[in-house]
Amino acid sequence: MNIRLLGTGGADGVPALYSDSRVSQYAREHGGKDIRSRTAAIVDGTLKIDLGPDTWAQMARERLDARDWSAIIFTHSDADHFSPDELMYALYPFNDFEFVGFIVYANELICRRILDKFPEWPFEMKMTRSFDPFTHGEYKITPIKAHHNPHEDAQNLIIQDDERTLLYGTDTGIWDDPTWEFLQDYKLDCLVLECSEGFNPTPYDGHIDANEFVEVLERLRKMGTVHDDTQVITTHHSHQGGGTYAELQDFFAPHGVTVGYDGMLVDF
Ligand SMILES: [Zn+2]
Repeated sequence: MNIRLLGTGGADGVPALYSDSRVSQYAREHGGKDIRSRTAAIVDGTLKIDLGPDTWAQMARERLDARDWSAIIFTHSDADHFSPDELMYALYPFNDFEFVGFIVYANELICRRILDKFPEWPFEMKMTRSFDPFTHGEYKITPIKAHHNPHEDAQNLIIQDDERTLLYGTDTGIWDDPTWEFLQDYKLDCLVLECSEGFNPTPYDGHIDANEFVEVLERLRKMGTVHDDTQVITTHHSHQGGGTYAELQDFFAPHGVTVGYDGMLVDF
C-alpha cells in the first residue's frame, strides 16, 4: 500500500495567503518542503482522501489523473477539506456521460451539501459513520471519531487491504475514550497524523500541537497500536504553529517521526 501526501498545510496553507508570519515569509523565500498546500492525500493512486481548494494544482503538480480515482472519501466538511465546487468538473458540460465517476463516501452533513448543490448528482454516494466499517473494492475502510467538531461526525480513517493498515488522521484533536478503546485492536503499518499547532498550542482543542503529537504517539506505542515497524508521518501543519520544515524535523527526528511534506510518497 502507499499514500501520497498531496497537501500537508493548515487551512490557509503555507505561506498563508494574507500572512506575514515568520513561517510564511520563510516559505516564500525558500520554497521546497516549506510550501504546504491544503491537506489531502491519495492511497494507491485510487482512493482520494478529501477534495480541498488545491486539488487541481496538486494533481497537476504530481502529474496524476483524477480519472484514476475510484472513490473520494471525505473526513469532514471544513473548507480546506471539502470544496464542493470542485465536483462540478466531473459533470456535464465539463464532462460527458461516459465518465464513470467515483463513489463518494462522506458523513451525513457532506452528503446533504452535495445533494443541495447538485440535486441530480449522478454518481454513487454512501453515507459514512464513525466506527462503522465499509468495504470498497479490496479495501476495508473504518472511520473513527475525531475530537474536532461537536456539530459534525468528523472522522479519521483506518484503511486496510489484505496485508496493511493505515491510519490517516487530520483534524484529530486528542481522541475521546471510545476512539482510544477502538484503536486497541489495531496494529498500524503507517500512521499519518496532524500537527496543526506545531510549537504554538492554542486553547482550541480540535487540533494538536507537537508535544501533544508525541503524547498521542507514546500512548499508541504503549497500546501496541504503533510498533517498531510503523512509519509515523506528520501532516496538516499551520504556519501559525511557528515551525519551518527543518525545525519540525529537528523536533520530531528523536521520536522516530518523519515530518510530512507536499508530494511525499510513503510505501509500507
Ligand atoms: Zn483541516
